[in-house]
Amino acid sequence: MVETLSIAVIGAPGVGKTSIIRQFIYNDFSEVYTPTQARYVYRPSVILNGNMYDLKILDVPPISSFPSSTSQEWMDLRCRGVRNANAYILVYDICCVESFEYVKMIRQQIMEHREASGSEVPILVVGSKRDLQRHRFTPRRAVSVLVKKTWKCGYVECSAKFNWHVVLLFKELLGIAVARGLRQNHTSIRLQGALQRNRCSVM
Ligand code: GDP
Ligand code: MG
Repeated sequence: MVETLSIAVIGAPGVGKTSIIRQFIYNDFSEVYTPTQARYVYRPSVILNGNMYDLKILDVPPISSFPSSTSQEWMDLRCRGVRNANAYILVYDICCVESFEYVKMIRQQIMEHREASGSEVPILVVGSKRDLQRHRFTPRRAVSVLVKKTWKCGYVECSAKFNWHVVLLFKELLGIAVARGLRQNHTSIRLQGALQRNRCSVM
């Protein structure tokens, strides 16, 4: 049976969420900023440790807060599927402190939701636009320690522009999700490049 993992990608506008997803799936990057107006679902398949997973990647448009109830989720189309995602990728721009504040807020709200639902949802925090690191607002280590040690979340920095650590971040998240939720045995996760257009990649 093929497992389906839904992953919600959340972050402030313009941090590079769509670019990360499209680089992962299509090996594609655009300098032109096209704001994501509506929620978009990508459905690639990947192979991890010899097991196939259907991913449902939700590219979540700007939301002011994590949906606090099922009815709020249903009233706001942008949030559909966000509350029950199997995992979260929270993206901030390493040059924009406000985008990190947004991630802090969303992560706090997910924790509150998680407490209520009692589930251990994997969260990966992603620092995007690593190619612009000369303009970063704080040293990598400061964020990494906070995220890993205090929040107990995964942390990866990437550049969608140069396809740097993009596949790695999905591999990290899937590794955590599989370890926590699906209890597969842990052989090393091998990576053979990003997904080809229209479908399956071996990770
Ligand atoms: P979203 O609103 O979070 O989905 O952001 P987008 O993916 O649409 O990207 C917003 C802008 O940032 C676009 O102009 C992208 O070209 C640019 N961008 C995205 N990723 C990177 C990156 O890794 N490096 C640089 N320099 N620019 C990026
Ligand atoms: Mg977008």
